[in-house]
Amino acid sequence: MLAFLLIKSDPRPRSKKMQKLRKRKQSELQPHNQAHFLSNKKSSAKRAPPISGLSEVAKDPYPTHQWPTPDQCRAVRDDLLALHGFPQEFAKYRRQKPTTDNGEESESKESVLDGLVMTVLSQNTTEANSQRAFASLKSAFPTWEQVLNADSKCIEDAIRCGGLAPKKASCIKNTLRSLLERKGKLCLEYLLDFSVDEVKAELSCFKGIGPKTVACVLMFHLQQDDFPVDTHVFEIAKALGWLPAGADRNKAYLHLNQRIPNELKFDLNCLLYTHGKMCRKCIKKGGSQIKKGSSDDSCPLLHYCKSN
Ligand SMILES: [Zn+2]
Repeated sequence: MLAFLLIKSDPRPRSKKMQKLRKRKQSELQPHNQAHFLSNKKSSAKRAPPISGLSEVAKDPYPTHQWPTPDQCRAVRDDLLALHGFPQEFAKYRRQKPTTDNGEESESKESVLDGLVMTVLSQNTTEANSQRAFASLKSAFPTWEQVLNADSKCIEDAIRCGGLAPKKASCIKNTLRSLLERKGKLCLEYLLDFSVDEVKAELSCFKGIGPKTVACVLMFHLQQDDFPVDTHVFEIAKALGWLPAGADRNKAYLHLNQRIPNELKFDLNCLLYTHGKMCRKCIKKGGSQIKKGSSDDSCPLLHYCKSN
């Protein structure tokens, strides 16, 4: 859907707005959750058939939990949009939603592979640091071929400001090596033609690329209707009663993706994330993310919260 062009030799640091990716609270640099991809494994080689083979539990681990309803999703989206406006940091990705992949020159110079690496670098660090790490990596190694051929230590040095440098360097290099072996070139634009489940199956083949990284790549860089569940989204969803008690994040991802209408996923996700960073009422555990100046009295979600 996106007309991202693959720029292999663009030495410019990526603009800040292009790198506004979410920081991750949990590392995905371990082997990913196999259950998440279990139903897709068999379809990884060829274009996957529709997901009719999925069990109901795999689609939605909480099938009797009827929330959120489409109306609830729409109401929360509208309330948060009225409160925050659409978050500027994600505007670039939203604007590209209607873009057709007709090869027209795009304002964006991000390739899908850029997006995947940016998402990996964004784990367990701040947005600012992950942006610096990506810019530093591209400055040191303008092409992905150069990254692949570089000494691991040199890659680590380039991305050190983003934290977890050895793991992230290993993940990036493994992904590049695997991609080259599988496809013969360092390009992921072919995923633009894949369905959500096909993308999940495909990216699950890359060691170290976990479900949340895949979800972020789907939503931001492939413009697919997917709903990543980060700490902020997870905590608000629980507070709103959208998840049963004791829900874990992987199951929350499956449940919310089943319940939230596709056309609302992108805006709702960006808004919940933004709100979660700012609102102390909704995110009880997010103390470190609370921004000064946010008002406890201004949260429009409180009357939705079952515990309030
Ligand atoms: Zn709130």
